[in-house]
Amino acid sequence: MTSVFRDEHWIGGAYVPSASTERIGVENPYTEEVFGHVPAGTAEDVDLAVSAARAAFDGWAFGLTPAERGAALGRLHRALTARADEVARIVGLELGTPLKIAKAVQAGLPLTVLAGYAELAGRPAREETIGNSLVVHEPIGVVGAITPWNYPLHQVVAKVGAALAAGCTVILKPSELTPLTAYLLADAVAEAQLPPGVFNLVTGTGPAVGSAIAGHPGIDMVSFTGSTRTGAAISHAAADRIAKVSLELGGKSANVILEDADVVKAVKVGVGNAFLNSGQTCTAWTRMLVHHSHYDEAVELAAKTAAGYTLGDPFDPATRIGPLASAAQKDRVRGFIERATARVVAGGLDAPVPAQGHFVAPTVFADVDPDSEIAQEEIFGPVLSIIGFGDDDEAVAIANNSKYGLAGAVWGSDARAVAVARRLRTGAVDVNGGSFNPFAPFGGYKQSGIGRELGAYGLTEFQQVKAIQR
Ligand code: NAD
Repeated sequence: MTSVFRDEHWIGGAYVPSASTERIGVENPYTEEVFGHVPAGTAEDVDLAVSAARAAFDGWAFGLTPAERGAALGRLHRALTARADEVARIVGLELGTPLKIAKAVQAGLPLTVLAGYAELAGRPAREETIGNSLVVHEPIGVVGAITPWNYPLHQVVAKVGAALAAGCTVILKPSELTPLTAYLLADAVAEAQLPPGVFNLVTGTGPAVGSAIAGHPGIDMVSFTGSTRTGAAISHAAADRIAKVSLELGGKSANVILEDADVVKAVKVGVGNAFLNSGQTCTAWTRMLVHHSHYDEAVELAAKTAAGYTLGDPFDPATRIGPLASAAQKDRVRGFIERATARVVAGGLDAPVPAQGHFVAPTVFADVDPDSEIAQEEIFGPVLSIIGFGDDDEAVAIANNSKYGLAGAVWGSDARAVAVARRLRTGAVDVNGGSFNPFAPFGGYKQSGIGRELGAYGLTEFQQVKAIQR
């Protein structure tokens, strides 16, 4: 068995011992064995990292030209690219993502995002003239980045790449469930010889390290991805010192299949989307809304598609669905299934799953009440709810009947589908299978978040705007 033991934080351009001798074990959710550990950091470690990031800020923000910062991020991209196979392997071990998907999504996607930020970093910061004012965009300062476990490197790079490209310095706290991937980024930072203190990694729990970051007076902005509940706690902590917060939170996205849709494609792609990464995806289309004329066909096809997925060892090429990230996540998801009263058409609590690992069978519910728990709450597991509707207005009303507004999809004739897409109160909508764009703004309406990540919009989030009058 592979063991990965990391005993230090990356602070000020070096691996340094933690103030704590405690360690957090990292479990493989397929074998259920602890195969690694990282330091259980403390507020003292955060203090040290903030001092390093503050000391590095002026030099990184104002002492280098954009071309020099761009070149440094280019070196980082090359060093991380050299570790792509290791990223996919470690994510497979600590999260259980099937290897093929891990290579494409968990390793490939963040590399694409980082390449984009290396390119953007090399461009001069935006400036414009408004009357007698010169308006300049400047880095906001020291950034605290707190990330979840479901896309361990992508969520890190979406913050760290954008913040560094904007000229900010960063303290990263990855999820305690999947902290090992972040060390591969620190290794790449070391190899790329980024100036000391520009990027710092402190591992630990949310209550210890996360809340120390959220409340730290030396941190100018907190960029968070995770649950809505934790996002609210971080907002409260940052509010006391009027620090900027950007939040990427939960979702309950609708996949709207209109009367004139290609139903077979819409259902197959929709089921695949809902169950990607075992349903542990914030943008997952977990509510399938189907026009009454296609309803029975869609339910039958969704059930058949879900039942056809192979569950198993993430490192077996035949596996399509891996385990959930933890025993707690599995129990939580099973709780939702147990409490649901809708008709089970695939999966369920008694469906066969591999004997070892935190598995839940891909589960499809039909005839779901749009106000019920499974249609309203983010389950973060392989559970799909199918709901029927009579016309486009009703579809829009059901889709928007959510406290979340992160993503969604619409299928139908182009003009009609785009018209419905415009009416959805969400940060992104894919029409007729339009693919994910890693350079388009990404973020939520309503309780799905504040601010945008990815591409130029994501970089702007880490900037201040100054008006100079002459
Ligand atoms: P979580 O909120 O429990 O944890 C996220 C991070 O916050 C972890 O690093 C955790 O240690 C830290 N944290 C926990 N308590 C904290 C506190 N009091 N103060 C500061 N930090 C604290 O979320 P999770 O379980 O890791 O991730 C799942 C959630 O993330 C889901 O709700 C999902 O929708 C959301 N998510 C959102 C997006 C998005 O972009 N919108 C992307 C991925 C995941």
